[in-house]
Amino acid sequence: MTESTRYPYTTNNAGVPVGSDEHSLTVGDTGPILLHDHYLIEKMAQFNRERVPERVVHAKGSGAYGVFTVTSDVSQFTSADLFQPGRTTEMLARFSTVAGEQGSPDTWRDPRGFALKFYTEVGNYDLVGNNTPVFFVRDPMKFQDFIRSQKRRPDSGVRDHDMQWDFWTLSPESAHMVTWLMGDRGIPRTYRHMNGYGSHTYMWTNAGGERFWIKYHIKTDQGMEFLTQSEADALAGEDGDAHRRDLFDSIARGDAPSWTMYVQVMPFDDAADYRFNPFDLTKVWPHGDYPLIEVGRMTLNRNPEDFFVHIEQSAFEPSNLVPGISVSPDKMLLGRIFSYADTHRYRIGPNYAQLPPNRPHAPVHSYAKDGPMRYEPGRVGAVYAPNSYGGPAADTTRFGDPAGWHTAGEMVREAYRLHREDDDWGQAGTMVRSVLDDAARDRLVSNISGHLKDGVSRPVLQRAVQYWRNVDKNLGDRVNKQVNGG
Ligand code: NDP
Repeated sequence: MTESTRYPYTTNNAGVPVGSDEHSLTVGDTGPILLHDHYLIEKMAQFNRERVPERVVHAKGSGAYGVFTVTSDVSQFTSADLFQPGRTTEMLARFSTVAGEQGSPDTWRDPRGFALKFYTEVGNYDLVGNNTPVFFVRDPMKFQDFIRSQKRRPDSGVRDHDMQWDFWTLSPESAHMVTWLMGDRGIPRTYRHMNGYGSHTYMWTNAGGERFWIKYHIKTDQGMEFLTQSEADALAGEDGDAHRRDLFDSIARGDAPSWTMYVQVMPFDDAADYRFNPFDLTKVWPHGDYPLIEVGRMTLNRNPEDFFVHIEQSAFEPSNLVPGISVSPDKMLLGRIFSYADTHRYRIGPNYAQLPPNRPHAPVHSYAKDGPMRYEPGRVGAVYAPNSYGGPAADTTRFGDPAGWHTAGEMVREAYRLHREDDDWGQAGTMVRSVLDDAARDRLVSNISGHLKDGVSRPVLQRAVQYWRNVDKNLGDRVNKQVNGG
């Protein structure tokens, strides 16, 4: 076999054989490069455009394809196709850090994104969760400010703990999530060793039209494992891609990670006078009130063959809901319904749903038309609805009941304050006192204090001590001793 037939021959993007992989076209060996060396121009221009804008949040991610299999019967709560007994549905998962950029280490202390896409027979269902059941803020009005406080300073371009604690201590609703973040689960050992949570409250509707409020819990079958701060710091220097590598390598060697999905189900009418607002993203529903009910198992068994195509271009959006599943009055969820799809339109273009990881396996009969980078032919014939030329028409029986809730009242801008336990500190304190053991509490004090000792200004530091005393007096006193010595 000659050199030239051992490999496929190089072509340009139009499929035409190229003259050389190594030498540009010049006039003599000291002459200028010729503008009509179009292959060289194409290589340079293509290279300049290799990146799409990274996500503002959840920029660094890893993912894999897999399957979701229903293992028990929850049809009394939802008619959603993918959750019916016996169903197996292909899916894609993407895990990520939140505040770091593309090149940032996987082991920084940060929540982790836990985004799932199910290619159901009635279209894509996306469950865009985190590895935490709660979040820092409960209103989308504060999300942008929160993220900026966790990112980089405008002057030096470095991350700054003073900004982080300034925002947190001025936003007491963050206490539950910050307790979580500073605890052991703030740095998972790998993506395989963490739970996922839908975090938001969603509505499920059964075939009879009965409505339920639900929360998703997706528990790792590998066991929950974490890194201590010093282990994570060392790993950040040794292998910034440790979690990405671990996920890819374990799937490549046939060790497919799996998670078991559960739901908590709240009868629709319980919400009105439950002890706290069940749509508040800074709260969990105690298991004692609403126990976990098993739904199924997801297994990730197929690596992407091209990271950029399948993971960087993947687009998850909580607005991808299927019949039997709907939104709730959770304000953060309602904000995200807008912002995710909007991000994708900006980042990877308005036809992002045609890209391989985002393309539904169900048939698409949309009236969407044209736009940049559209490559699947649009509808031939009628490009508008209604029409009398055989174009698709909405079938409300397929959509199912318009699952909603009754609401009335004055227009207001206010936090949830109507339920008797709508406070900001209670559940964080319960975690510290009842969930953590002594060793975990010691690590919590050490993690908080270490973070606070790194560049936090005096007034913010004083507020932080009070913040932790509000969560738990003893915890706050211990933090005070560590950071102020008193
Ligand atoms: P439970 O005793 O029934 O549940 C406590 C839960 O805490 C466990 O099931 C586990 O959740 C989680 N947990 C264990 N260790 C840690 C840790 N180091 N960091 C964070 N979470 C941990 O109590 P309740 O349901 O009454 O909740 C009590 C407190 O537990 C809440 O205020 C909340 O802070 C925390 N919690 C509650 C969850 C819920 O959905 N009810 C979920 C997670 C935490 P898991 O089984 O998901 O691993």
